[in-house]
Amino acid sequence: MDAISSAQIAALDAADPLAAFRARFSLPEGVTYLDGNSLGALPRATADRVRDVIEGEWGEGLIRSWNSADWINAPRRVGAKIARLVGANPHEVIVADSTSVNLHKLIIAALRARPGRHAVLSEPGNFPTDLYMLETAIATLGGAHALTLTPRDEIVSHITEETALVLLTHVHYKTADVHDMAAITAAAQAKGAMVLWDLSHSVGALPLALNACNADLAVGCGYKFLNGGPGAPAFLFVAERHHASLVSPLGGWMGHAQPFAFTDHYEPASGISRFLCGTPSVVGMAALECGVDLHLEADMQEIARKSRALAELFMGLVHMRCAEHDVTLVGPPPGAPRGSHVSFRHPEGYAIMQALIARGVIGDFRAPDIMRFGLTPLYLRYADIVHAVDVLEDVLRTRAWQAPEYRTRQAVT
Ligand SMILES: *Cc1c(COP(=O)(O)O)cnc(C)c1O
Repeated sequence: MDAISSAQIAALDAADPLAAFRARFSLPEGVTYLDGNSLGALPRATADRVRDVIEGEWGEGLIRSWNSADWINAPRRVGAKIARLVGANPHEVIVADSTSVNLHKLIIAALRARPGRHAVLSEPGNFPTDLYMLETAIATLGGAHALTLTPRDEIVSHITEETALVLLTHVHYKTADVHDMAAITAAAQAKGAMVLWDLSHSVGALPLALNACNADLAVGCGYKFLNGGPGAPAFLFVAERHHASLVSPLGGWMGHAQPFAFTDHYEPASGISRFLCGTPSVVGMAALECGVDLHLEADMQEIARKSRALAELFMGLVHMRCAEHDVTLVGPPPGAPRGSHVSFRHPEGYAIMQALIARGVIGDFRAPDIMRFGLTPLYLRYADIVHAVDVLEDVLRTRAWQAPEYRTRQAVT
């Protein structure tokens, strides 16, 4: 790419149809936040809303708020909103538990729905919890299933009549590679297998069309691009055609057909509510709803378009200014479909990222050598990308990352 002038960058920001959303977030002074794919920033509305839920609904309303503030329906209400972001019907998505627990529920439900089939497919380097939840679900079911990890471009050819389930993360958490949801779903269904999509790095970043892809099952995360706050509740999707045949292995009372009949026998609710387990996290759900509402105000196509533009700018500038310092792009090349983060490899990636963070440019590091930068179109400007690359180039050129304080590993990176 050619050098780009500060006037051109200012023009891009001035013409940005999403520019007004930045003021809807509370962002610290002096920070360029490129980690919204790991923990989304705080929407301004969230603090007031959470204070209302705590002081008004909880403090004043007390237990009456289960009805008067509709706490009891929050999992369905927020689920229906997320459904609009993922291309599902309102009654096919519910908010519950964590992504990991939702994986457990849907893996076991899916494997039990395909008796006689014992092959399970995923890819090596998938997000760790996905692989761990597969291994432990298989152990829970008695160990008769065989998990095979197949490189991403060979997955379709490994799906057979023996395959019960394919579990894939739609956008790869390190590389931002994107799977072809429609093609893989169709290939699996042609052999009678189901696909479970992990949308943790897709929801709120890319337009999704679960039903247009005839998807079976999906899970996703609330605290990344949805800005739901640390440890926000997660969500799950089950296509309506599977509601009657799939049963959660965690038959808690909130998923019962009549939770308040207090009977001695478990009978799953008829719809998506059967995938609830225990009492919903009301405060967490209120915060999540604020983040989801912001995304419903914006146009997902516009978000995706700006995400691509920010990524192309970032990749172009890094290539032009940092390639001589051993920084190489990981994942889709410019022009190719991608998720909403950009990753680069450098043998000293950890120390370089610490030096960036010390200078207010916050991305993250993924072992062994990947520097990852999340691009969140609702609160990033084109000028922020230029600033981040200015700082990165400076850290590389001056070898600032060699300072000893940047080399000590923290527990959470
Ligand atoms: C972030 C993420 C998760 C998170 O799981 P938790 O149960 O919330 O810790 C799961 N899967 C993928 C692909 C993720 O990126």
